[in-house]
Amino acid sequence: MSFLKGKKVVIIGLASNRSIAWGIAQSMREQGAELAFNYQNEKLESRVMKMAEELGSQLYFPLDVSSDDQISSFFTEIEKVWGTFDILIHSVAYAPSSQLEGSFTEVTDRQGFSIAHDVSSYSLTALTKASLPLLNDGASILSLTYLGAIKAMPSYNVMGLAKASLESNVRFLAYDLGPKNIRVNAISAGPIKTLAASGIKGMKSMLDHVEQVAPLRRNVTTTEVGNVAAFLCSDLASGITGQIIYVDNGYSIVGMSLT
Ligand code: NAD
Repeated sequence: MSFLKGKKVVIIGLASNRSIAWGIAQSMREQGAELAFNYQNEKLESRVMKMAEELGSQLYFPLDVSSDDQISSFFTEIEKVWGTFDILIHSVAYAPSSQLEGSFTEVTDRQGFSIAHDVSSYSLTALTKASLPLLNDGASILSLTYLGAIKAMPSYNVMGLAKASLESNVRFLAYDLGPKNIRVNAISAGPIKTLAASGIKGMKSMLDHVEQVAPLRRNVTTTEVGNVAAFLCSDLASGITGQIIYVDNGYSIVGMSLT
């Protein structure tokens, strides 16, 4: 199968070979897509370069999503090489570590709230705006969210609020861009040990808990998330927009577990 043959994909959020963006990049490449990446800062440049080259891509440009100037320069580079493209992956989130442990009421502050929402939700709007003139008919945009958007839990704190905003963002963008034949969705992934996740206190207990309680009795892999991403962004999913698709081994449907 190569159901993404000829599709050009911009992937924002690759940091390591544990990144969800890496699973998405691998699955999309397997389906025939051409890939371009960002790197958030100089520290990540050589790592992203190596991973991009492993997947046959020479396209990697700097982009910190909190800067409008960098967003603009990034898409100028993409336009120079590709002209237009088909798929935008938004796999980015951040909140200061002080916000991600302890009592939500006590640790959440104005600055942490603002940074979490800016980097983790507004960036989807900003990247979509900047991409719009370059997106082909039938284009697809995909973001990554987590169960903390709709359920309270320890440590996830203000990131849960930012993910709730992100999920609403997905619906408003889908509503707005549907008439242009552009689809916008998100995958709500189960917990995975990545760099971003290591900033959340108690991650190991979350992973153990999912293994015990999820109907499939295991944690998801970045490959499983990547495969769903490839499907959702392909023409096979042409009737799906504005949706949050759970790739969590069923954890989110459990009301009570007696194991
Ligand atoms: P990761 O650390 O591999 O990726 C996070 C990415 O965000 C990194 O590439 C980092 O460079 C980027 N980023 C952060 N701030 C940025 C900024 N200002 N500008 C540009 N890039 C910035 O971790 P991941 O787990 O693969 O995270 C990817 C997405 O998946 C995030 O939205 C995360 O919330 C979501 N998610 C993760 C899990 C999990 O358990 N790992 C579960 C559900 C959803």
